[in-house]
Amino acid sequence: MPDPLSTAELLELDRRHVWHPYGPMPGRQTPLVVESASGVRLRLAEPVEGRAELVDGMSSWWSAVHGYNHPVLNEAAGAQLGRMSHVMFGGLTHEPAVRLARRLVELTPGDLEHVFLADSGSVSVEVALKMCLQYWRSLGRPAKRRLLTWRGGYHGDTWQPMSVCDPEGGMHRLWSGVLAEQVFAPVPPAGFDAPLDESYAVGLRRLVREHADELAAVIVEPVVQGAGGMRFHSPAYLRVLREACDEYGVLLVFDEIATGFGRTGRLFAADHAGVTPDVLCLGKALTGGYLTMAATLCTPRVAEGISRGEVPVLAHGPTFMGNPLAAAVALASVELLTGRDWAAEVRRIERGLRAHLAPAAELPGVRDVRVLGAIGVVQLDREIDMAAATRAAAREGVWLRPFRDLIYTMPPYVTDDADLARIGAAVCAAAREG
Ligand code: PLP
Repeated sequence: MPDPLSTAELLELDRRHVWHPYGPMPGRQTPLVVESASGVRLRLAEPVEGRAELVDGMSSWWSAVHGYNHPVLNEAAGAQLGRMSHVMFGGLTHEPAVRLARRLVELTPGDLEHVFLADSGSVSVEVALKMCLQYWRSLGRPAKRRLLTWRGGYHGDTWQPMSVCDPEGGMHRLWSGVLAEQVFAPVPPAGFDAPLDESYAVGLRRLVREHADELAAVIVEPVVQGAGGMRFHSPAYLRVLREACDEYGVLLVFDEIATGFGRTGRLFAADHAGVTPDVLCLGKALTGGYLTMAATLCTPRVAEGISRGEVPVLAHGPTFMGNPLAAAVALASVELLTGRDWAAEVRRIERGLRAHLAPAAELPGVRDVRVLGAIGVVQLDREIDMAAATRAAAREGVWLRPFRDLIYTMPPYVTDDADLARIGAAVCAAAREG
């Protein structure tokens, strides 16, 4: 083993050589150095704001639903590592991938029966969109290659997913004019419990009808738009989309990379609406945040359509497809979740977040406080000073990563009541000081 780096050396090398998400090169911000993580706590190499440990209010971007260093997931990873960490998936198969696929088919709604095990959320969206375009091409309808989505969405950072992210307020403005031009519907009316807005629903149906000849699919984040603005909307619009897609011959894709595996209070956000999409994307919490794996599921209709084409195979096959190590941990994570009363855990977190974020509503500059399942959001009337907000949260002993006008938290489901109170205090401190 090489000598460990001092924190100062590590940070200097990081600054010079290592890209971070949406970061400049060389780096300008100083990231916190994490030495280890256990339960819901990140242990830092050097204390920040007097704290050597921070409660993770982010679940590492929606993924670490069981917390860190979990004995069951460690055991699954160790056992699989002893057998094989990776083999190519072309011409070979293995039990972890097959068992995981079968379990996902059992748990997801309706007749989503076929599973593509991709290596990241963005790739699973690429695969979903490719499935849809290839489906119509195979049926002799190549003109059906555009996509309809809501403004304000976020579906990843690779090429085709970027084209269905928010084209104006979003993170991919730089590429406007270069990406495929898609069809955008207005952001759905706010509020999970809000009654259906008939005129909005009529407009949505009209857009699908008017563009049906050129639309391959509608793709949306059901119930919660995540990184594009942390907005909640009524599940009723998912039913509107399902009906419109059926009526006008368009496929429907749900991107549940963030919402999947219980985060909104149902195992999948689609379950709030009782709607089955033609294609479903899962990621993040799939492996409990341990390893990088995502999944794209589709119905027999989509698979059979593709198989009728001139190229009767799904034209996608990444090197790390079906990675056995990730699949074994994903299976263990899914069993860990579904083997206990995860819904009660999420309800407890929802109650805690409601109670502990409520004081934020009284703070100056706070526009909205909203909670759904294990997601809490405080929206300000200004752009947040991210460094100041992060420091304020750290002083309370919590890791938060606010962006734009949003301070938000989606803690691991195992976060206890005392730590939920800490998270609430940290969100309020970030709203005051950020
Ligand atoms: N789709 C949604 C809804 C997401 O929230 C994300 C990531 O934040 C992605 C897709 C992209 O996933 P990944 O970052 O694993 O590529």
